[in-house]
Amino acid sequence: MSVRHPSYWESGLQPAPPAGELAREVDVLIVGAGFMGRWLAYFLRGQSVQVIERDGFSYGASSRNAGFLTCGQVSEMLADLETAGFDGVIDTFLRRRKGIAIARREFPELAIDPCGSVDYDPVNDAGRELLGQLNVAAGEELYSVRPANLGGAEREAYFNAADAGVHPVRLLQLLQAHSPHARYAFGVRAVRVGDGTAELEVAGRRIELKYRRAFICTNAFAAELDATSHVVPGRGQVIVTSPVSTLTTKALGYMNQGYDYFRFVDGRLLIGGGRNRFPAETGTSELRPTVHVRQWLEQQAELVIGHRDWTTDYHWAGMMGFVGGQHLGGSPRRRLDAHTEIIAGFGGMGVALAPLYAREIATEA
Ligand SMILES: Cc1cc2nc3c(=O)[nH]c(=O)nc-3n(C[C@H](O)[C@H](O)[C@H](O)COP(=O)(O)OP(=O)(O)OC[C@H]3O[C@@H](n4cnc5c(N)ncnc54)[C@H](O)[C@@H]3O)c2cc1C
Repeated sequence: MSVRHPSYWESGLQPAPPAGELAREVDVLIVGAGFMGRWLAYFLRGQSVQVIERDGFSYGASSRNAGFLTCGQVSEMLADLETAGFDGVIDTFLRRRKGIAIARREFPELAIDPCGSVDYDPVNDAGRELLGQLNVAAGEELYSVRPANLGGAEREAYFNAADAGVHPVRLLQLLQAHSPHARYAFGVRAVRVGDGTAELEVAGRRIELKYRRAFICTNAFAAELDATSHVVPGRGQVIVTSPVSTLTTKALGYMNQGYDYFRFVDGRLLIGGGRNRFPAETGTSELRPTVHVRQWLEQQAELVIGHRDWTTDYHWAGMMGFVGGQHLGGSPRRRLDAHTEIIAGFGGMGVALAPLYAREIATEA
């Protein structure tokens, strides 16, 4: 694994000590302690669950994202109509919405910033029509067009009243703390998983573990355990500035069809994106951040804040997984054999979608 540049959320986080002795036979094995693995462990109550994670906490997307609890923004969904069609867009929107509702209901104690979201791409007729259809599908007036401020300038923008911001590491910690039926083992790498047997690497030793059901939740790293995987890694990068003073609307913000996104955390600007500008720097599972993307994000930050009186205090990369390399691809669920399933490739939507997939799988189990 590459050198770790901690995300803002990971500051002060102590990695768990390496695993001790592991049981050699379990009901359920979950590989990967990101949102998918942790939500699944949380919902599989009443079963003997072993979660294994090769990192000391989580290493990929879940502790390194932007923490948007969002069911989607208009300009991105307008673009998705071309590839996924109307039904595909509405289906994903409703699934994200359900996932967010689950997260909020299960953890009412989780501090959430109920700031809503603003999409700063130009408002047009197609967007107004789509937001009307989204409101009908949702059964409430979630979306509207309102004035918003970007870097000191007022403009009309799409607004979503229900979107919110979350501290992803706190949610990951809550999931583990509220899953007493699940044993977590860190520093344990799955080398092979299939047909009821997993080969694991623990402190340089190889051991074998038998399972009744296994769920591989390794996201962008899916191909390491599934040679036929369709999941393509996509590196995302994020910066966080020093505390700033700005007139910009304090909501989750989107620009450039959602490729660039920002929010305010503890008075600082968090801004991520640039993937479409630098495709050559995206298709890798290497977590190292790069200079080009940082420069792009700093330019965008200046536009958002409206001045350059700040410094970049954090810069990190996180790893998304995309099914078929697409934003809205096929299903993230794939059965590998009678005992083993892989759930990977939520793109930039996993904070919202993982709770729903986990609850559905737990209900089937
Ligand atoms: C920069 C960025 C911004 C994002 N912003 C948002 C957002 O605002 N809202 C949103 O909804 N989504 C967002 N996402 C997407 C979201 O973070 C992901 O969809 C979600 O976290 C995926 O969770 P996961 O559990 O599937 O994968 P991951 O969090 O990547 O977890 C996979 C885990 O598997 C472990 N692993 C891999 N291989 C092995 C192995 N062989 N043995 C043991 N363990 C293994 C890894 O160490 C890792 O911890 C963003 C992603 C990025 C990168």
